[in-house]
Amino acid sequence: MTASILIIDDSAVARELILDAFRQSRLEAILHVARNGGEALELLEHYEVDVILCDLEMPGIDGLGFLDRAAASDKLREIPVIILTGHETQEEKILGLERGACDYVTKPFDSGELVARVKVQLKIKSLQDRLRESNRRLEQLARTDPLTGLANRRRFMTVLEHTFGHSLRKSIPLALVMIDIDHFKKINDTYGHQGGDEVLIALADLLRPEPGDDILAARYGGEEFALILPEASLEIARRGAERLRRQVETLAFTGPLTDLRLTASFGVAALPHPAITTIDQLIGAADEALYRAKHNGRNRVEVSPPD
Ligand code: GH3
Ligand code: MG
Ligand code: MG
Ligand code: MG
Repeated sequence: MTASILIIDDSAVARELILDAFRQSRLEAILHVARNGGEALELLEHYEVDVILCDLEMPGIDGLGFLDRAAASDKLREIPVIILTGHETQEEKILGLERGACDYVTKPFDSGELVARVKVQLKIKSLQDRLRESNRRLEQLARTDPLTGLANRRRFMTVLEHTFGHSLRKSIPLALVMIDIDHFKKINDTYGHQGGDEVLIALADLLRPEPGDDILAARYGGEEFALILPEASLEIARRGAERLRRQVETLAFTGPLTDLRLTASFGVAALPHPAITTIDQLIGAADEALYRAKHNGRNRVEVSPPD
């Protein structure tokens, strides 16, 4: 893999020596140069860099100034910085390390040592990048339902806690829709568990919000789904649920499921609501409305409080 290295030094001679060190090494690298911290920050807006070599004394934004700005930036904080010190004192090296540098090289430097130290930082950075990526994937897994790819119940609760608090404090509407497939046990009995799974996936695909939408669709339990609709009133959520109910009713399946006529029942509750001040009450109200939808014949939408 080709490494991308940024060299920041105000001395043309120093820059040339460093460039030579890399040219003579067998390290495959793209080399960028900047004459001070300001130029470096400008350059970093356009290029991805794996490691930075940074002089301390420079006009404009100097080495420590650059370190401070890098530490304050989410994007730059992760890039290892090796400081290049010349005649500076021991204290300045320590100061550089304390301000976020990961290593230092004293000028005049040995080219072999300089390249070797850069390689160490490249290796650490590559391990850290992999770790970050695998953490990101684990976090994604921890909040996703594996069958449908929708948010799982844990993610649903986290988002609801956040949205609920915000809505209550700011008196912003918030709607919750609970959806339960009708007679799903019969679907499993007729088409097998795998057929049932296909139905769950089809319904999830219908509920899945468009990218950029602030709606959260979650698999709440076995054949129960939930939608969090931020800023939606009860009436808007009811209309949305009614639209979905009709879409479910007209879902066309193929293969062994061709004859299946799927329906689902919907319970809707929303803030502001005269009797709701907690999340449990909101979920309870939507559940109660869903129960009424089942009781009143299924394949229907009921709201809380009832009309
Ligand atoms: P109702 O109309 O009253 O909602 O009846 P129902 O049969 O849909 O509801 P019930 O709660 O009695 O049954 C739900 C069934 O869902 C029972 C369970 O075996 C099945 N189920 C739960 N999770 C899964 C799953 O991941 N895949 C499949 N295929 N079935 C599941
Ligand atoms: Mg200098
Ligand atoms: Mg159920
Ligand atoms: Mg059901």
